[in-house]
This record gives sequence, C-alpha cells and structure tokens, in this order.
Amino acid sequence: MELLDLRKDGIDIQKQIPLSKYTFTKTGGPAEYLAFPKNLDELKKLVQVTREKNIPLTVIGNASNLIIRDSGIAGLVIILTEMKKITVKANTVTAEAGARIIDTAFTAARAGLSGLEFAAGIPGSVGGAIFMNAGAYGGETQNVVQSVNVLTRDGEFKTYSNKEMNFSYRHSLVQDNKAIVVS
Ligand SMILES: Cc1cc2nc3c(=O)[nH]c(=O)nc-3n(C[C@H](O)[C@H](O)[C@H](O)COP(=O)(O)OP(=O)(O)OC[C@H]3O[C@@H](n4cnc5c(N)ncnc54)[C@H](O)[C@@H]3O)c2cc1C
Repeated sequence: MELLDLRKDGIDIQKQIPLSKYTFTKTGGPAEYLAFPKNLDELKKLVQVTREKNIPLTVIGNASNLIIRDSGIAGLVIILTEMKKITVKANTVTAEAGARIIDTAFTAARAGLSGLEFAAGIPGSVGGAIFMNAGAYGGETQNVVQSVNVLTRDGEFKTYSNKEMNFSYRHSLVQDNKAIVVS
C-alpha cells in the first residue's frame, strides 16, 4: 500500500505541503507527505505504511520548538492537532497529544485542579510538552504526569508510568525511543 492510498480510509493526507502554515515561526519548507490523523486507528495505519515502505516519519505538535529548513522534510510528517480531546474525571485530566497544553491547563483550572498553572503560557501541545518535559516558573511537566500513552515505532500501543518516562531537564524517554505520544 502507498501512503496516498490511505485517503480511501478517510485519512487526511496530502503531498508537498508547505509547513510554514503550521509552524509557530511561520517559516519552513514543504513536507513530502503531510497527514492529520483524527484518531488512534488512523495514526496506527500511517505508522504501519511508513514502516512497510521504509519512509522517514516525523511527528509534530504545535511546532513551537522547531525550526524547519527551507528544503522541507522528506517522508511523512504527522501533525497531531486533530487529536485534541481533553477530559476530566475526578482528579485526573486526560489529554490527547494534539491538545494545546494551554487549553489543558485552563481545563484543569476550571475543574478546580491545580498543578498545570506553569503551563498556561507555553504555546506547545501536550505531546510536545511531554517530549520536552516542558516547564516554567519552577513547574515541570513531569510533576503532573501520571502516565503516558504512546504508539511505538513498531506499531504497538504502550503505557509508561511517570517513572518509566525517565524525565529530566527538558528530556524524556520518547526522545530516545522515538515513540509517539498519543495521550
Ligand atoms: C513564545 C514561546 C515561549 C515558550 N515558552 C516555553 C517555556 O516557558 N517552557 C518550555 O519548556 N518551553 C517553552 N517554549 C518551547 C515550546 O513551546 C515547548 O518546548 C513545547 O513543549 C513544544 O511543544 P510543541 O507541541 O510545539 O512541539 P513541536 O515544536 O511540534 O515539537 C518539538 C519536539 O517534540 C516532538 N513531538 C511533538 N509532539 C510529539 C508527540 N506527540 N510524540 C512524540 N514526539 C513529539 C517533535 O518531534 C519535536 O522533536 C516556548 C516556545 C515559544 C515559541
């Protein structure tokens, strides 16, 4: 199967799309392929085809910590902003990776939950915040994360505990194993 064949499954995937439209700096060249999966099933299918066809894969959140070169990015770029659901149950907030960390912080505050105040000015996604262990004003993502759901590059869904995430200053496990944070 070719990447563009996934359109038949309703997946939003296009060829040669300028990334400048999606980056915080409004700069950057084209993605060879660009996809916006709407759910885990679509994401898994995309990852599967890149594996089968040996196509390079880059995942982007809100592109607020990236400078993309003018020549663009070869292979498939996945932007997760269509996966942005945030739910609150008792004292736990669950946020999909494409949700903005700012929206997540405000949702928590509206539910009377503290802890994410530090993130109220960080212009990234939840996935990007976890990848970077983003922090500000003495707060850090690792202080509020209970667990992280990922899709591995082998196409397997896994849940890592906070401890397994190996958080340290602006670092987390997914920088090393290239897993895709899904929520
Ligand atoms: C004005 C401004 C203020 C900022 N203030 C702060 C601050 O106070 N504190 C701070 O820590 N940072 C800050 N940043 C940096 C940035 O916002 C954070 O690093 C943020 O966490 C990046 O998230 P993003 O979704 O934009 O990631 P992106 O820029 O899209 O990606 C960054 C990296 O994360 C990876 N990534 C993104 N999503 C996923 C995912 N779902 N799964 C796996 N990997 C993923 C990408 O591959 C890439 O390597 C600031 C940036 C700007 C422009």
